[in-house]
Amino acid sequence: MVQYHEIKQANPGCLLFFRMGDFFELFFEDAVAAAQALDIALTKRGRHDGADIPMCGVPVHTAEAYLARLIRAGFKVAICDQIEDPAEAKRRGAKMLRRAVVRVVTAGTLTEEGLLDARRHNYLAGLAEAGGEMGLAWLDLSTGAFQLAPTSEPALAGDLARLAPGEILLPERLLTRPALLELLAEWKPALTPMPNPRFESEAGRRRLQEFYGVGTLDGFGNFGRAELAAAGALVDYVGLTQQGRAPHLDPPRRLAPHSVIQIDAATRRNLELVTTLAGERKGSLLATIDRMVTAAGARLLTDHLAAPLTEPAPIAARLDAVQFFVDRPETRAALRERLRHCPDIERALTRLSLGRGGPRDLAALRQSLGETASLREMLAAPRDIAPGLVPLPERLVEAQRGLGEHSALVERLGRALADELPLFARDGGFIAAGYSSELDEWKSLRDESRRMIAALQGRYAGETAIGALKIRHNNVIGYYIEVSANHAGKLGPEFIHRQTMAGAQRYTTAELAELETKIASAAERALALELRLYEDLVGEVMARRGEIAATAAALANLDLATALAELAAEAGWVRPTVEEGTAFEILAGRHPTVAAALAASGNGGGFVANDCALAENRIWLVTGPNMAGKSTFLRQNALIAILAQMGSYVPARAARIGIVDRLFSRVGAADDLARGRSTFMVEMVETAAILNQAGPSAFVILDEIGRGTATFDGLSIAWATLEQLHEVNRCRTLFATHYHELTALAAKLPALACHTMRVKEWKGDVVFLHEVGPGTADRSYGIHVAKLAGLPKSVTARAEEVLGVLEKGEQGGALARLADDLPLFSAARRHAEPPPRQSEADAVLRETRPDELSPREALDLVYRLRGLVAE
Ligand code: ADP
Repeated sequence: MVQYHEIKQANPGCLLFFRMGDFFELFFEDAVAAAQALDIALTKRGRHDGADIPMCGVPVHTAEAYLARLIRAGFKVAICDQIEDPAEAKRRGAKMLRRAVVRVVTAGTLTEEGLLDARRHNYLAGLAEAGGEMGLAWLDLSTGAFQLAPTSEPALAGDLARLAPGEILLPERLLTRPALLELLAEWKPALTPMPNPRFESEAGRRRLQEFYGVGTLDGFGNFGRAELAAAGALVDYVGLTQQGRAPHLDPPRRLAPHSVIQIDAATRRNLELVTTLAGERKGSLLATIDRMVTAAGARLLTDHLAAPLTEPAPIAARLDAVQFFVDRPETRAALRERLRHCPDIERALTRLSLGRGGPRDLAALRQSLGETASLREMLAAPRDIAPGLVPLPERLVEAQRGLGEHSALVERLGRALADELPLFARDGGFIAAGYSSELDEWKSLRDESRRMIAALQGRYAGETAIGALKIRHNNVIGYYIEVSANHAGKLGPEFIHRQTMAGAQRYTTAELAELETKIASAAERALALELRLYEDLVGEVMARRGEIAATAAALANLDLATALAELAAEAGWVRPTVEEGTAFEILAGRHPTVAAALAASGNGGGFVANDCALAENRIWLVTGPNMAGKSTFLRQNALIAILAQMGSYVPARAARIGIVDRLFSRVGAADDLARGRSTFMVEMVETAAILNQAGPSAFVILDEIGRGTATFDGLSIAWATLEQLHEVNRCRTLFATHYHELTALAAKLPALACHTMRVKEWKGDVVFLHEVGPGTADRSYGIHVAKLAGLPKSVTARAEEVLGVLEKGEQGGALARLADDLPLFSAARRHAEPPPRQSEADAVLRETRPDELSPREALDLVYRLRGLVAE
């Protein structure tokens, strides 16, 4: 217990997994918390200070599953392992095995396949402040990605929403600032506050220099002090959680300010970029466009979608790569086929560099690196050759170079690794025959000795004339000779008795003992040698880890370009033109997810494409009934901008987009009760963000504002908002509204144009055409939609009556009259449907007593009812 308390105290804030034999045990309050979170039995062991010690445990071989649940529940776990075996402890003369924390597992520092989502990055973020500026750094320990960027209080929420980090480190003092506390409220479970001195910028710089073994960071970029402080704290924390083992981390890259579109958290949610409003991946834009065949490619796609670019040149470069493969379906298919066989080497590399890998990670490297040669060839000589095709664009030349040259390593791994591989090196048996003659010798000695034991059994059986004599093995006493009890007397003196069993006797002989020792030492030497060979292979991989990381990046980029090309070809998307300026011309645009859902339901032609041209008229006021397709239209244009700027083709016949630097959407909000905000408050907070931040390059979609309050209130807010957007923000805006009164502003505001969703009235019904055209809706058809939704007829009829009065415009007096002279209930009665007439069949049924009927009578009754109904 002394050992336990010492280790526990050195790792505050963590549950301690304390290795005891085949279990990780937890004690005291750790045990109580873990037993509850894992729903496992809480037991006790011994006493401490006069009270029972609560305890629970998980088996070592299934610990990962339990770890996953604890991490998800917000715990950090320190893994305390035995760092010597019992034989070593004995030699030291110690009763207790040496134990030490080998790693601290936290949400942001995971590396295990089982704990991670293969298709998403798991970022550890650090936030710091220095000299009045804020900086953000983030890394994915499982892949080595490492970036930093300046941030600020207004930008922070959007930045975090973009990264969606699993864990955020920050200095304790920042948590004393109420404004930041409010901003970070939704990240509360992910926050790891650390002592302030860990976020010192000069120390951060030194730590980075040390980590990368450089005298200056200038080669990596020009970093702000706050960024260095954040990045230094991250590297520090990685050292702390990995107990000094140095993982592979790419050199830090600086994300220049304003190089990606700023999208706040609400807009991301509303547009359902990575998950739907219900929090699911299915139905999100990401799921709709994901054609990736590798996990690293899928992570790259998620990153690109979360952070579309804001400069035309790099966007065009990405699009060139996609176009290359759109134009070459055969090469694309061939590449994708090869990529499908490339396992995730980014994460394998990290596990190996942290000493947490195994033979299967080496096999993953052999497999993926083995594909690079043929991939490089395919790029050098694409199969489809047609006139007018563009040559290999810059990004693909880079990818081709990045694939690198690994034939020697691949060849060596190919020779070294056996076909069937254990998960852990310590299990042995993973080195192929023929790779090391010394290993083969030990193994054949081991196997030869096993054969000699079999021969020995035959000889003893013959010599003793006991046909049933057997030589067996178990883990407790090793090899032994077994005969049934009635034969025991027949054995000579060389048979030394070892055990008496029910009905059997066990013996050994000097000869058997000698063979056994030979086998054991051969096996032990074979395993030791295998482990040495394993370390050699890992060493060779580590020596090349920079090149391997570059290959991994090239593979991910190839997957991304070919997958986006596949999507474009399959869904008939076009290459957008992205340029400086504020153009926005979408010809026959479609909503990617809604159109895909319609296509999936067998209604491929069902989606009505719509144009959107924001030129002199940079604000469109879109009116039209509910369910006519306003929200769909607004969102599809925002999504097209995002897709274009992330470097994807877009669902349209043509698209020309002037760079969008910020994107805002304010769409039907829900109560944010967790933060104590009503729907209307949420709506106003989001509107305030837009009016305070949107500049001339922003793109804004506003779906209804001012609806959560009284009509005149709401109308006035919408009115003033529109004026502000027109006069002050001057950004491209799609504004959907039910306040038809707003269309009057078109006369006054020159850049405002009115558009409406077309509907057709047909035989008293309304048909939604989902078509956007110039003009204004004359009605909202709300009552029509209410009918569709199944409101009682009495209510919809009464509503039509009220509407008639309101529309005459003599509101005040007429309404008073309506309220006075027609109590609602009499109206309800008047419009209520007459009760249905009772039929004769009803009457017969009502008189029937089913329990008293015989089967025959029941059948007669059916005939009779049938007759009545037929009449
Ligand atoms: P509104 O915002 O006007 O109430 P929505 O945009 O929510 O209407 O659209 C209602 C439904 O109409 C959508 O769920 C979708 O199924 C369908 N829809 C919308 N736009 C189109 C379109 N362009 N083509 C086909 N169906 C559409």
